[in-house]
Amino acid sequence: MSRSEQLFAAAQVHIPGGVNSPVRAFQSVGGSPIFFKRGEGAYLYDEDDQRYIDYVGSWGPMILGHAYQPVIEAVKASLDMGLGFGAPTEVETLLADKVCEIMPSIEMLRMVNSGTEATMSAIRLARGYTGRDKIVKFEGCYHGHSDSLLVKAGSGALTLGVPNSPGVPASLAEHTITLDYNNIDLVAETFAKIGNQIACIIVEPVAGNMNCILPAAGFLQGLRDICDQYDSVLIFDEVMTGFRVALGGAQAEFGIKPDLTTLGKIIGGGLPVGAFGGKKEIMQHIAPLGPVYQAGTLSGNPLSMHAGLAMLTALSEKPEIYQQLGAKSKFLTQGLEAVAYAAGVDLTSTFIGGMFGIFFTDQTSVTCFSQATSCDTERFARFYRGMLQEGIYLAPSAYETGFMSVATSQTNIEETITAAAKVFKTL
Ligand SMILES: *Cc1c(COP(=O)(O)O)cnc(C)c1O
Repeated sequence: MSRSEQLFAAAQVHIPGGVNSPVRAFQSVGGSPIFFKRGEGAYLYDEDDQRYIDYVGSWGPMILGHAYQPVIEAVKASLDMGLGFGAPTEVETLLADKVCEIMPSIEMLRMVNSGTEATMSAIRLARGYTGRDKIVKFEGCYHGHSDSLLVKAGSGALTLGVPNSPGVPASLAEHTITLDYNNIDLVAETFAKIGNQIACIIVEPVAGNMNCILPAAGFLQGLRDICDQYDSVLIFDEVMTGFRVALGGAQAEFGIKPDLTTLGKIIGGGLPVGAFGGKKEIMQHIAPLGPVYQAGTLSGNPLSMHAGLAMLTALSEKPEIYQQLGAKSKFLTQGLEAVAYAAGVDLTSTFIGGMFGIFFTDQTSVTCFSQATSCDTERFARFYRGMLQEGIYLAPSAYETGFMSVATSQTNIEETITAAAKVFKTL
């Protein structure tokens, strides 16, 4: 028994499924999850001292590689000043200013502790601001695990086959209208019928929780136009895409200005942080300025704020990394497609900046949920286990995005393609 297997057995005694977030349990790929003890640059090291090239990056935050020193140093300096005061600190303003500078659609923002809190609070604000109850989301998009948003959701909900969770009251779920990603006609039809009851559209501007699916030409602009026409709030959930597909997120990449944006993952530099922000006119409805209530004991805690500020400062000082990330994602996905083709394995792929997706399918492109879920997940599971053997750590689900990091070298990527060529022959 490996040490990871021993630790997993021990974990299951007091932790449901042995994990604190379900996809980590490896249920859809089989085998036992790897327990890690250390990360450095492009690599993770497990409890059995095996080294892996990592394409998860803690699900996004480690865009500059593991143990990135400027972030670690900022956290260490903050640590010595005390862990938190439950009162304002200067660094909260510095991080807020930085975010507003990077994303001009955000005029004001509120810090929270996770992406889930950010999206939950943003839809409450949209409802409070418009006085409407209904919200529109898209099938396969994941916006965290709050009740209203856990309807036909992606990520772990999709991996485990429970996109509609028990425990979400039907009376609440009925206010969530779920439409097909990239189908703007359906959005227009829906708004033509009940647009004046819809508080907001919430969308992942690049879908990263049903594998990686890009927005079709005109889709995001179409959402912007429809929200303008019906006075609904357009929320871009950039928890994953923010500071990842481009410094200014998908909104910068596609040139669309949402009313509200939700952030998470990279904004915390690896520590738990989320944020939501946008137009001043809307944000002023949040307590204490307005009546929409939202609060958090540890929100804006100095450790997380310092980590986030160091991260965003480093990223904004190196804007060229986004093109490099895109080039690396392209090299990897094209390389994987080529060796898959050579082995007779049907594969298609997507990428944008530091995000990429591979789909085991004979479809030439994947643009929506039904296509994503018709891919060969059994084959993915075999591929996954083979790659793990070769020392390549991918997200343990066919429905998760791959994350490229600045620390991942050309050699690492070539090693990954070589490993895949070997594994594809066994599929
Ligand atoms: C990860 C993610 C969330 C949830 O964030 P947590 O910090 O896990 O609560 C929400 N939206 C998107 C798009 C995400 O990728």
